[in-house]
Amino acid sequence: MKSTTMAANQQCSPAVMLMCLLSALLLQTRWTSAEELEWDENGYVLYCPCMGRFGNQADHFLGSLAFAKMLNRTLAVPPWIVYRHHTPPYTNVHVAYSDFFQLEALSAFHRVVSLEAFMEKLAPKYWPSEQRSAYCFEKAAERSSDKKTCPMKDGNPFGPFWDYAGVEFVKSVLFGGMSFSVYYQPQWMNKFPPSEHPVLAMPGAPALFPVLEEHVGLQRLMVWSDKMVNQGEELIASQLIRPYVGIHLRIGIDWQNACKLLNSDDTGPHFMASAQCVGYNRQTALPLTMTMCLPDLSEIRRAVKLWVKKTAARSVYIATDSESHSREIEKLFKGKVKVVTLQPDLAQTDLYILGRADHFIGNCVSSFSAFVKRQRDVHGLPSSFFGMDTPGKLNDKEEL
Ligand code: GDP
Ligand code: MN
Repeated sequence: MKSTTMAANQQCSPAVMLMCLLSALLLQTRWTSAEELEWDENGYVLYCPCMGRFGNQADHFLGSLAFAKMLNRTLAVPPWIVYRHHTPPYTNVHVAYSDFFQLEALSAFHRVVSLEAFMEKLAPKYWPSEQRSAYCFEKAAERSSDKKTCPMKDGNPFGPFWDYAGVEFVKSVLFGGMSFSVYYQPQWMNKFPPSEHPVLAMPGAPALFPVLEEHVGLQRLMVWSDKMVNQGEELIASQLIRPYVGIHLRIGIDWQNACKLLNSDDTGPHFMASAQCVGYNRQTALPLTMTMCLPDLSEIRRAVKLWVKKTAARSVYIATDSESHSREIEKLFKGKVKVVTLQPDLAQTDLYILGRADHFIGNCVSSFSAFVKRQRDVHGLPSSFFGMDTPGKLNDKEEL
């Protein structure tokens, strides 16, 4: 590299110095990106984000990133799986990580390559079709007919995902008696040295849901792509007036059914993403109320009114999985506060706008809300939850 730059510089007369510098820089960039796709002898981790929608996939992503770092393997960053059962093309869409977030920002923490680039540039040479092994828990393989095959492509979203990546698996490698936690790091290293097992490809994320407390901070690495920033900022500037309160209404039929489980006895101290407001410690976790899981209209009104007043908000942004209740919320303020709901095609547009609000009211149990909350925490922006005005502290009414 050095010599290339030198050679370019040596031919430069002062008059064309700038252009020479630019071309040297260009050479350097090209060289560096070629270098980025050199094969990593420490191996790779590949996985399908096959559980749940965006919020779940994001939780899993943070844990998987930590897992790849723990094994000192490069993470092949998968695309997001977007389910489109009600709109064309009625099949899953695989959206490259970098469409929403900057891939480069992850490098501050650990080595990554997009799954797409891995398949295009590295797999043909270093992971040829006849060597493509699947890795899964023995438990997962028990479901297969010979009880020894990892269910890599069984059903949706598994099949379409690996088809998108262009992978057929020819062999299965099973493991058991270990998990993805730090405790098992030596077992992973001993069982699967990269020299013999260069590519660990798994049917699901090598991570837990919800995200572990120690991985929450990795959210800082998920930086919106320029495209998302431009689009989001333009919407905020054209539709909203600051200060604005952003709210996430997770109240649709699937959620109503999920929250019913709260009344059953077998939910422990945590329910889905609830640790974010009741606390991660299982011994000291606060009780999770139905209002926190499924706020009714009176709670939505109460919380919105409170935070609009506290922040002297001039507009309210409503993101919702179903109904927006925008009329009811407008009525609270007699036309003095602008109420906006876009119900955008892309859920990430809502995530962006909520992330930039002057105050955010989320749903404690939702991983979609959790993504917004983590992102705001990174930037020191305030958040609360329906049924819990101060995260980690019961509302006065609930304490009685
Ligand atoms: P969780 O189920 O709330 O934990 O979060 P997930 O992200 O796993 O699944 C909920 C999905 O419903 C999201 O990924 C979105 O596709 C959709 N959804 C829920 N709330 C909203 C919202 O406020 N706006 C938009 N656009 N989509 C939402
Ligand atoms: Mn979900």
